[in-house]
Amino acid sequence: MYEKLELLIDGEWRQGSEGKTEPVINPATEEVLAECPHASTADMDQALDAAERAFPEWRAKSAWERSAVLREASRLMMERRQHIGETMTLEQGKPIGDSLGEVDRCIEATEWMAEEGKRAYGRLIPTRMPGQRSMVLPEPIGVSLALTPWNFPALMPVRKAAAGLAAGCPMIVKASEETPGTAVAILRCFTDAGVPNGVLNLVFGIPDEVSRHMIGSGKIRKLSFTGSIPVGKHLAQLAAEHMIKCTLELGGHSPVLVFDDANLDTVISQMVPFKYRNTGQVCISPTRFYVHDSIHDEFVSRFTDAAKALKVGDGMDPETQMGPMANDRRIVAMEEFVQDARDHGVEITTGGSRTGNQGYFFEPTVMENVPEEAAIMSKEPFGPLAPISKFTEFEDVVTRANGLPFGLASYCYTSNQKQADELANSLETGMVGVNNFMVSMAETPFGGVKESGYGQEGGIEGLEAYLNHKYISQTGM
Ligand code: NAD
Repeated sequence: MYEKLELLIDGEWRQGSEGKTEPVINPATEEVLAECPHASTADMDQALDAAERAFPEWRAKSAWERSAVLREASRLMMERRQHIGETMTLEQGKPIGDSLGEVDRCIEATEWMAEEGKRAYGRLIPTRMPGQRSMVLPEPIGVSLALTPWNFPALMPVRKAAAGLAAGCPMIVKASEETPGTAVAILRCFTDAGVPNGVLNLVFGIPDEVSRHMIGSGKIRKLSFTGSIPVGKHLAQLAAEHMIKCTLELGGHSPVLVFDDANLDTVISQMVPFKYRNTGQVCISPTRFYVHDSIHDEFVSRFTDAAKALKVGDGMDPETQMGPMANDRRIVAMEEFVQDARDHGVEITTGGSRTGNQGYFFEPTVMENVPEEAAIMSKEPFGPLAPISKFTEFEDVVTRANGLPFGLASYCYTSNQKQADELANSLETGMVGVNNFMVSMAETPFGGVKESGYGQEGGIEGLEAYLNHKYISQTGM
């Protein structure tokens, strides 16, 4: 049922040339699923050379030809949906329904880019001279490196690879060594769909060694990374040495503002499943709940009841609503957040502990009266912890919401249209959900401001990230 783990180098699926591997763990059972192969330096150089060699042929294909390959890849994802989904749940832990949903998002992202690649328009600029043609031509940026994390092991590689391939760029993907099977299974769809040898490569290894080697090779023209802020800053520094264009999708700390005129049924029914989706390991997960004083107690009580009712278990059980954390590092982090909250006098209304005799399970946790000084109010928890705090004044809550150096997503609930407009304008994040949380779709731009990174994926902006714009001034002799 689990995927066969291989590297993809110059069109060949194979093991690493030096035979180095690392175990992949099922976070629900702590069993070893398989060994993830590491690429040697020679393997990485082969991938870089192959990508460089493949660039002229891939960029020379028409947008319609590239589109046909991508659409076939999305068809294969549909055909292999169950296998990819099961592989994902086994190695990452999320409930099988969520894994299948992630494959669906991959299909959408690939189809969207397959079509959007046909609309990489240039433009003609009115000229100053008779007979002059003043043109802007989009061109693929070149060999691109995608570094992707373990929380969305299918969507992250696909969102980057589909955009780059649609634009005409060869891709080298280094997916997470903790969730390699999903990356292998989903990228096989592209090679089986007819992506030529060398145009798409997949490697695993020691993350810092791979990124240093690839970035330092001088062959990479574009870097797209999704992961933590410290790693993003480190990669941006490495990339600056070679003037590599970057898209950095980093962490966030999304505030949720719930006003006294909000419909609590809507808020609870949307925010509880969203908070605990993927066990809270989502960069746009709702993270700090600021609730108006007049509805605070009812909100806490209803949120707590809904969190208590969630069925936690192995993601392969179709009844499971929240799976384990993806790795044991997250359990340690959760225990530290909870201890720190207790030290700050916070009341834990449900959860707060590791659970089960095996696997990395942590209870859905709700905290009330959380002061801004508690670590969880400023450090990204990336886990199933929901801190709730009160507010009374609009200005005060907006200041608190904007008070951190991050700005990925924010959410607010109010039935007052004027207030909704003001919130949409004043929240300092790359995405704002007003009375909903639909901020990540194939057709919409996704990315942060401040320390949450720069550049966007998805939408027309996602294709743009893989294009240069060449200006041509042409006259007759
Ligand atoms: P981490 O900071 O060690 O790694 C984060 C991701 O970056 C991992 O996928 C890792 O393989 C990769 N990485 C690390 N160093 C790298 C390097 N030098 N070059 C290339 N890739 C590198 O932390 P972690 O324990 O894996 O995750 C913890 C934190 O990471 C979370 O608290 C969360 O803030 C963040 N994170 C964010 C996202 C996201 O979607 N934005 C995804 C995963 C993790």
